[in-house]
Amino acid sequence: MLRVAGVTARYGNITALRGVDLHVSEGELVCLIGPNGAGKTTLMSAVTGLLPVTAGRVLFEGEDVTRDSPDALLRKGLALVPERRRIFADLTVEENLLMGGVTVAPAERRRRLKEMEELFPVLAEKRTLHAGYLSGGQAQQLAIARALMSEPRLVLMDEPSLGLAPALVEVVFQLIQDLKKRGTTLLIVEQNAKKALAVADRAYMLRTGEIVDEASGQDLDRWADLFEAYVGG
Ligand code: ATP
Repeated sequence: MLRVAGVTARYGNITALRGVDLHVSEGELVCLIGPNGAGKTTLMSAVTGLLPVTAGRVLFEGEDVTRDSPDALLRKGLALVPERRRIFADLTVEENLLMGGVTVAPAERRRRLKEMEELFPVLAEKRTLHAGYLSGGQAQQLAIARALMSEPRLVLMDEPSLGLAPALVEVVFQLIQDLKKRGTTLLIVEQNAKKALAVADRAYMLRTGEIVDEASGQDLDRWADLFEAYVGG
């Protein structure tokens, strides 16, 4: 469904991604892990058109989307839940959600809004509040719900559990699993590697802008143990 082929991206003189190759097949939950500064956010930005790709190609369902804008990609079924919950602080919760659904017809948008408010009851409670007043956990729920408003077939999530209280981390991981059950394909960046690897079908490890390893099946458990030992030590 998604193929990243030899992608290189730069910030001025800094090369943040060097010839990255990865793919995500339909229905898969793929996890991307790596240390701080490895280029994980940069890869999400390059795939979703937020940052220009200087070499290589991004293919979505076989079509070259390397030069597509984020908006064009949303219309094609690819949505991003950005890092640090970039929601519109000056808009209400409801307005934020409706913006996520700009690609769908008005009646459908209303139906999706209701569905999101059922999925995240706190968003219904805070419907008319400016999003800037939400707590971190509430803002993350809004960021996820906004991305889901367009009923995307592929969702990219950048650090969905970052800074959330443990109970909310559980809610987010449950939601990720529910989305997968409903047939949504997911590519997730997570610092919480152990939890992410436990629900992933496959994983890639990114280090200094390069994919250095890939795991699936039992290797995912091995990676999770390694990470735990690393973090614990
Ligand atoms: P983290 O887990 O800390 O978010 P990451 O793996 O997502 O890390 P990136 O944020 O993608 O890493 O950063 C990759 C590299 O690009 C780093 O060396 C970082 O300093 C650099 N970088 C990121 N954003 C910019 C920017 N806007 N301008 C210049 N350099 C940047």
